[in-house]
Amino acid sequence: MKKVRNKKKNEKVAYHTLHFICSLTRALRPKEKMSVSDWADKHMVLPGGSNKAGKFRSDSVPYQKEIMNAITDSAVTEVTVMSSAQIGKTTIVLCGIAYYIEHEPSTQLLVLPTLSLGEKFSKTRLAPMIRDIPVLRDKIAPAKSKDSDNTILFKQYAGGYIVVSGANSAASLSSMPIRVVWMDEVDRFPASAGGEGDPVTLAQKRATTFWNKKYIKTSTPTTENGRINKEYLKGTQEEWCVQCPCCGMYQPYSFKRVDFNIVGMKCEYCEEVIEEKYWKESEHMWIAAHPERKNKRSFHLNAMASPWVAWSDIIDEFQSAMDEFKTYHDTERLQAFVNTTLGETWKEDEVAEESTTEDKLLERAEHYKAEIPEGVLLLTAAVDVQNNRFEVEVKGWARDYESWGIHKTEIYGNLETSQVWNELEEYLETTFCFEDGRELNIAAFAIDTGGNHTNRVYKWIKAMKKKGKKAYGIKGYAGKPGIPLLYKRSKVEIKEKSRDGKRDIVVDSTTIWILGVDAGKENITNWLTIEEKGEGYCHFPNNVGKGYDREYYKGLLSEKKIKKKVRDVIKDVWVKKSGARNEPLDLFNYNLAVCELLRPVWSDLELKISKGINYTKAVKKVRKQRKSTKGLSI
Ligand SMILES: [Zn+2]
Repeated sequence: MKKVRNKKKNEKVAYHTLHFICSLTRALRPKEKMSVSDWADKHMVLPGGSNKAGKFRSDSVPYQKEIMNAITDSAVTEVTVMSSAQIGKTTIVLCGIAYYIEHEPSTQLLVLPTLSLGEKFSKTRLAPMIRDIPVLRDKIAPAKSKDSDNTILFKQYAGGYIVVSGANSAASLSSMPIRVVWMDEVDRFPASAGGEGDPVTLAQKRATTFWNKKYIKTSTPTTENGRINKEYLKGTQEEWCVQCPCCGMYQPYSFKRVDFNIVGMKCEYCEEVIEEKYWKESEHMWIAAHPERKNKRSFHLNAMASPWVAWSDIIDEFQSAMDEFKTYHDTERLQAFVNTTLGETWKEDEVAEESTTEDKLLERAEHYKAEIPEGVLLLTAAVDVQNNRFEVEVKGWARDYESWGIHKTEIYGNLETSQVWNELEEYLETTFCFEDGRELNIAAFAIDTGGNHTNRVYKWIKAMKKKGKKAYGIKGYAGKPGIPLLYKRSKVEIKEKSRDGKRDIVVDSTTIWILGVDAGKENITNWLTIEEKGEGYCHFPNNVGKGYDREYYKGLLSEKKIKKKVRDVIKDVWVKKSGARNEPLDLFNYNLAVCELLRPVWSDLELKISKGINYTKAVKKVRKQRKSTKGLSI
């Protein structure tokens, strides 16, 4: 060993070998540790023609720095930016791409909503950046038509390449291994890449084998269910917060607190209205709702934080969008304002007017002295079928649609077994009492057939009808204005599995009612605003255990009617408030349908009840015929 080494020591090394070794060492030597923002401060030049033109300085747009540095943080795999349009999102993406070309050469994929947008981005943003920045220009051969190392959609450099693609083209998303995946405007991505599945999943698949992979998603949002909002919620949820020049508390910029007259924002804490200039000059920092989600950083920014946007312009934009909405009932511009200027998700109920509130309903709820308060002449029940339970409500009725909430409950169980159905049947047979002991049973009930257990519901309805009960299977038609609550009857087939379990065989049939639920909602919403007892008034109990709590009222007010332009026609459309459950409203609607189907002769019912006759029990014994044209009287 020793001899060999001595021999080598004496050898002369040829100049070209030495040169090769030197350049190899240089290439292999770890580069100085640098973040994207450091790199950008050293090399980045922004193209002319915009207010951001010239040498990049991360200090001039402080919110960009943290986002850029999160991208190269080794602890971070995913970075999501949900923002308004004018905050310099593209600059962040370009700086990142440049960093992974020059400083830490890696394989990259940039996905835009379509292939043509990808081409456009490459020509107008990527190519000029490479041309204008010497350290990038040195790494990428000039574009020539014959040179496959540098085309519009593919650019190669020592240590990697960047592929530019479109979310509408599965072919452009597949094939090559990629470490860094950039996805811009993900809310504009199609649901499927040319029939091959979710483009985001396809793109991310390229990187699964890299331990140090990066997924960067950026977009202005659309709705709450849009991709960027969902990704944002999965991450750290960082808001760009500003310190109040008055009380020192940090808070995100919020358009809701903007004072249009003095062009300032009211502090969330001390309520001082402070002008734009002083807010923008104040201290800022990112504040995370979930700092523990370290490998998935998500950021939200709105245009109010942008150094290039004046608040007066934002106010003008809002006011003209609002004018358009008021004049033409067109929410399109308002939604665009919320999405692209505020960088917030659009909720359809945003423009609906509040008619009554859950607080008001809670406040006016009454104490019932008995299960049934005086005045009630009829009891109906409605059943909403969920996957693991029934939601049931019993309602009391008198003339002119005066109504009483009697009991709202849930019956839990496996809907594929008969036990829970028996429990439901038993519950619907409950006898309810007035204060003096007079009794009343549920006269009829409706059950929703629209869920996951339709066939099972059909079967049960048929069985209930055979037992002589007034059972109505119902299905709601929503979004079809103009049709009445009791729209039409429809015959449905009851099926059973064949012996080998492979086929469904029709074994029976029954009739269900199709309900125009919008018509019912219209009535209920109006009745809820009535403050004087009597016609249309909705009574609710505040007794504990009857099921009328805040959640119930939230559900009852979960939908709102807005005027909306649909294909150039203004229509009344019911929209669900975000995050709310609407079962209480559905149950009210189904109960109303039952009441209408029964067509009660109120004076007869009043007479019977005053005499203490439980006419609902009498019905079962006396009346055998299945159809009645007279309405419910005995
Ligand atoms: Zn303050």
